[in-house]
Amino acid sequence: MSEQLDQAADALVSQFGGGGRVVGATAPGRVNLVGGHTDYNDGFVLPVAIDRRTAVAARPRDDDIVRVHSVEFEETATFDCSSLDPPETVTWADYVKGVVAELRELDGGDAVTGADLVVGGGVPRGAGLSSSAALELAVGGALVAAFDIEVERRSLADVAWRAETRFVGLDCGIMDQYAVALCEADAALFLDCRDRETELVSFDGERARLVVVDTNVEHELVDSAYNDRVRECARGVDLLDDYLDTEIGSLREVSPETLAEHAAEIPDPVRRRCRHVVAENERVREAASALRRDDFETLGERMFASHASLRDDYEVSCDELDLVVDIARETDGVYGARLTGAGFGGSVVALVTPEAVEGFEAAVRHEYPERTDVDPDVYVCGVVGGYAIER
Ligand code: ADP
Ligand code: MG
Repeated sequence: MSEQLDQAADALVSQFGGGGRVVGATAPGRVNLVGGHTDYNDGFVLPVAIDRRTAVAARPRDDDIVRVHSVEFEETATFDCSSLDPPETVTWADYVKGVVAELRELDGGDAVTGADLVVGGGVPRGAGLSSSAALELAVGGALVAAFDIEVERRSLADVAWRAETRFVGLDCGIMDQYAVALCEADAALFLDCRDRETELVSFDGERARLVVVDTNVEHELVDSAYNDRVRECARGVDLLDDYLDTEIGSLREVSPETLAEHAAEIPDPVRRRCRHVVAENERVREAASALRRDDFETLGERMFASHASLRDDYEVSCDELDLVVDIARETDGVYGARLTGAGFGGSVVALVTPEAVEGFEAAVRHEYPERTDVDPDVYVCGVVGGYAIER
């Protein structure tokens, strides 16, 4: 049982009083090895769960009241779970409300009849490691334990995804919730975002480590550029629909060869946006097959190529991200690195030999602040399993 969950359980007793059985669950953050901006194009991604976990302790109630305390925020929210409406302005407690609301939907309305909950944070927030999905699935797991609800991991992933999209109101793909629910220790999750098919591909932690570098910058462009890219991809689909005989529906259906045939007819920048997505889907497939044969060199090469494509064709990188990837290129023993997440700041994920971890971390900690005046956060991550009911 995790120490962090024990602490959350102790905090539950001190916040809300003793008595009754306290149960709980933990859920990890995730990092995507390759597959940038492919999820909303019905494409492929390759995330792993990492060894930073959010813990939630729970004690059931029978009066429809939920009280939830966040140790990190030192705040308690109280709500009636029999009448929940999506928020106008989002606070952290809305992620919890969303999971409760969607879990109640699952089971005809009364699977959850209230609870006292404590959230202990373990996944860094806003670093692109998906602390929101970790929170959702730790809450989901804790409530499933508290009420003995029978639910498959995939269904709880859907509950968490609907909590974030339908209730909280953030229009995200399925990757985060699927990764946090379905990943296993020492494996990456090859996920087809169109069919929701999954394959676990073994990841040998003796041969490679993951180092996440949070640049600690976020440029203002993030939201507007994201929406622009979604629109540009849709424009590409429209144009290709006109040239091809079949309705393609998404860039996922386009091969690099088909795109090349029609490239001249697609105006820039839409052409380059399409080129990134189509090539990136190929890279994810190639990366997964490289990982199946423990070929970390090829996997790393695809990560570097992904970064170059996100930088030049998709144009979502920035100087700080490029700098960290350049440091990775110049450090012996780094297989590959790329920006992870939406871009314009946020984090880089690097795939590094175990021997090179220390040198890479030292290089980043030295060179990055020298050139940017910003201190990075560096997380050396183990590859772990998805959410777990632990007490
Ligand atoms: P991320 O990339 O980390 O998922 P998001 O903006 O999607 O970034 O989600 C972060 C939000 O999730 C936080 O602002 C907060 O509302 C909520 N959250 C995550 N972890 C915790 C926690 N330990 N306690 C309370 N709220 C949390
Ligand atoms: Mg999130």
